Parts: sequence; C-alpha cells; structure tokens
Amino acid sequence: MTRTIPHFVGGSLLTPDSGRFADVFDPSTGSVQARVPLASADEVRRVIADAEAAQPGWAATNPQKRARVLMRFLDLVHRDMDDLARLLSSEHGKTFEDAKGDIQRGLDVIEFATGAPHLLKGEYSTEAGTGIDVYSLRQPLGVVAGITPFNFPAMIPLWKAGPAIAAGNAFVLKPSERDPSVPVRLAELFLEAGLPAGILNVVHGDKEAVDVLLEDERVKAIGFVGSTPIAEYIYATAAAHGKRAQCFGGAKNHLVVMPDADLGQVVDALIGSGYGSAGERCMAISVAVPVGDETADALAAKLTERVAQLRIGPSLADGIDYGPLVTRAAVDRVTDCIQQGVDAGATLLADGRGLVVEGYEEGFYLGPTLFDHVTTDMSIYREEIFGPVLVIARARDYEEALAIASDHEYGNGVGIFTRDGDAARDFAARVNVGMVGVNVPIPVPLGYYTFGGWKRSGFGDLNQHGPDSFRFYTKTKTVTSRWPASPLRSVAEPVEAGASFVMPTTR
Ligand code: NAD
Repeated sequence: MTRTIPHFVGGSLLTPDSGRFADVFDPSTGSVQARVPLASADEVRRVIADAEAAQPGWAATNPQKRARVLMRFLDLVHRDMDDLARLLSSEHGKTFEDAKGDIQRGLDVIEFATGAPHLLKGEYSTEAGTGIDVYSLRQPLGVVAGITPFNFPAMIPLWKAGPAIAAGNAFVLKPSERDPSVPVRLAELFLEAGLPAGILNVVHGDKEAVDVLLEDERVKAIGFVGSTPIAEYIYATAAAHGKRAQCFGGAKNHLVVMPDADLGQVVDALIGSGYGSAGERCMAISVAVPVGDETADALAAKLTERVAQLRIGPSLADGIDYGPLVTRAAVDRVTDCIQQGVDAGATLLADGRGLVVEGYEEGFYLGPTLFDHVTTDMSIYREEIFGPVLVIARARDYEEALAIASDHEYGNGVGIFTRDGDAARDFAARVNVGMVGVNVPIPVPLGYYTFGGWKRSGFGDLNQHGPDSFRFYTKTKTVTSRWPASPLRSVAEPVEAGASFVMPTTR
C-alpha cells in the first residue's frame, strides 16, 4: 500500500481526515512513492488553534532558552544529515550533495537565529525629556505561517521557521505538496531538540489550506516563496485580511560577461548555475549576456562544448551533474518552452528534449538546452522556464547589457564577470535587481544578510533572513515613561503639576 505522509501538529504525527490526497513521485524513476494529504479547512483551523494555545508559553520563555533549542536542533540535523539529504533527493530529484547544500543553507539561518537574544534587544534613551525615558521592545506577533515551494524543501522552511520561532512566535508551515517529507522530519527534530509541542506545525495542502491561513484572523503574518502569480495572490489576500506579508516570486537571472572576463571562469559559473539542480533554482542563471560579438562567439562555442559533457541521471547515483525535474508536468512545460524558442527563431545550440536515461525510462529527465541569438521579445527570454535551459542574449556594449538586465520584469539576482573594478562598481550601483554577484554566479546572501528580489520577484518591504527576518516576525512597542520625583531622594526636584493642553515637545 502507498505510504501516507502525516501532518505534524501539536508535537505529534497526525493522521489526516480530509480524504483528499496528492501523489508524491520519485522523479528518478517516475513512480509514485507516497501520497500526501491535502488538509481540509477545518483541519487547518484546528492546527491554528493548537499553535495559538502553545504560543504564549513559548513567548514567555527567555530568548536564550529559545536560542538553545535552535542550537540543539543544529546538532540533530548534522547527526541525521545523510538520511535527510537522501530523503530530500528522492522526492525532489536534486543530487545527494546538492540536497546537503539545501539543508546547510537552511542551517545557516538557524545559526543566525540563535542570535535572538541580541537581535530582539530594543533601544533605550534616557532623559529624553526631564525625567523621561523612552525605550522600544520587540514582541512576537503570535501565530505566523509560511507557505513554501518545492525547489528548496529544507532551506526555505528553515529560513522562515527559524527566525519566527526564535522571536517567540508559533509557526504553521504549509510546505510544497511535491516534496513534503523533509519538512515533517525537521519538525520532529525540533521537538527532539526541546521545542514545545504546537510551536512548529506542518500541515500539507493546496489552495483550500492556504486560504484558511490567509483569512483566519488568528494568523498574524504570512511568509511565502513560490511562483509570481501565486505570490501576488497571497500578498493581496493577506493584506486584505490585515496581515503583514512578504512574498517572494519567480526570477530570470542574468549574467553579464564583459570582454575582459576570464572565459574559463565564466563557463564554469554558467554551467554550474544554469544547469545545477536541473535549473530549478530561483537564483539559477538563465540568461547569459555577453558584451560584443567576439565575446559572444567564444562563449557560445565553449558552452556548447561543455554542455555536451554534462552527466544526467538518477538523483542518488554517483558522478552525475544533475538529476530529473520534479514532475512529468514540469518536463512537459519546459519542453513546450523550448519549442517556443525554436518557433521564435532563436538558434538552438543544444537540445535536451527527449532525453532517456537507461534503466530509468519513466524518469522525469531533460537534457541541457542552450539557445543563442535570443532577443528580449521572445517568450524564452521573458518567462521563467525553471528547467535546464540557458539562453544567450547578446549585447552590443556595456550600457546595453546593463539595460537588458535592469529592464526585465523580474529582479531577483544578477551577476557580472569582469576584471574591471570600475565596471563592476558601476554595475552593482546601477542595476535594477535586488541581489548582485561580482564574479559570483549565484549571489545568495549569507544568513546574516537579507535575501530578497525586486520588481515582480518580491512583494513586501522586508526581506528574508538577516536582521529583516526579526523585524518581520516581531512588532515594535515604544514606551515613553516618566517617574515623578521621589520624596525618598533628598535631591529630588518636584515635577510640574497641572494639566497641559499643548502638544508635548522637547523644546
Ligand atoms: P508554486 O507557486 O507553484 O507553489 C508555492 C507554494 O504555493 C506551494 O506550497 C503550493 O502548494 C502553494 N500554492 C500553489 N498554488 C496555489 C494557489 N492557487 N493558492 C494558494 N497556494 C498555492 O511554486 P513552486 O513551483 O513550488 O516553486 C517554484 C517557484 O518558486 C519558481 O517560480 C521559483 O522562482 C520560485 N522561488 C522563488 C524564490 C525566491 O526567493 N524568490 C525561492 C525559491 C523558489
């Protein structure tokens, strides 16, 4: 019988009762390996109630004790790292080593969140007026929720849950229904680390579950990562229900290649960031923008050579560069995008369609695809493909390359490869994109900086992780206090008596 992945609620694995399920595949073989329940609205309301009941006790636990739970969690994840990575790889399709990277980049943010005692400190001004002190407090919001995508089933749930619970909130996670097992295992490890029951809950589901999280007034904030149309829906609906929201969407990340760049480094960077994880990364480079035809011709030739050497196979096999895509539907969608590129007249230098891996004929594989002479009006340039497809959009000069990268409707990540410090500085200052790499292809900021794209890649005014995450998951209270002079102090001066009808000022 097919295994059913449970919800994790109130500190225990919970048998679903909605009667609705989705298939969870092994993308390497194409077979169904489990089924995931799709929670009913009532089930989600019960999860919120559990979280709400648990949260005040956790908020009252001092921040150092809360941080110590995160520290123990780090040890437990390292203890179980290989098992978690294997599980993640088997549902997502990314390689075992890449799966470990997914988990580790999540742990980086847990490490950052162990700084909660420091990060939650308020400000204090003494003698702001005569006998008046002003100070601020950061208080948790209560119950908060995260809705996360399939492509980083460990990293993104941890980016959201770590700072949220360290700040004293209870967290309800609605992970992707395509690879839901690792989030449940992580929640179990949090419990083992000493997190009280009800503080981290994992409920599986689709729009029905998400809509309850968006509409229920007990949920105070929504953190979302996924595709742009859903990000826009979540942002608007959460705001309409009076919640704070940060929603991160799709991407089309460019890499500008200046004529003076080290072409060997550029090709390594493009091959790794364009095709790693089968291109299913929001920070994947999907557009190379070589400056000048000479650079473009050399780049296209070298990329074509390297693409032919890529090894694709089952995600847990040794020596492969990338594994299958997440579902058959994803393969079909990317295949369709490639055909649109051909129809639009782009030059197809490598065609990954129809790849069959021996012994895994039903797996969700696509070979690496490379297009040259792609123009900004083509759908393969405008739309996020989210597969192993790299396009070359040639620029005449630096200014045109800067404009191409800046004018795209997405603004997640961008890179420039050059030996010219002046060009790199100018690019970093002027490009209209949220995260910039200089001779770095996937500029995902470290956990103590913040992560967030611009334009249609990010909605909301605070980013993920880094100091912004503690701002997002707390509300600020500002206290202005005056203590009348005490008769117990011999030097005490009397405070002026009587009502004042003018606006108090410090003048
Ligand atoms: P998705 O938008 O299909 O799903 C994301 C989440 O939303 C899932 O939990 C899903 O169950 C839920 N969802 C889907 N349809 C919904 C609906 N109609 N109503 C309510 N909830 C719904 O995204 P995905 O395919 O899982 O992930 C890939 C996308 O995520 C890509 O576009 C990628 O660029 C993006 N992404 C962005 C970032 C970033 O930080 N900007 C990071 C990772 C992934």
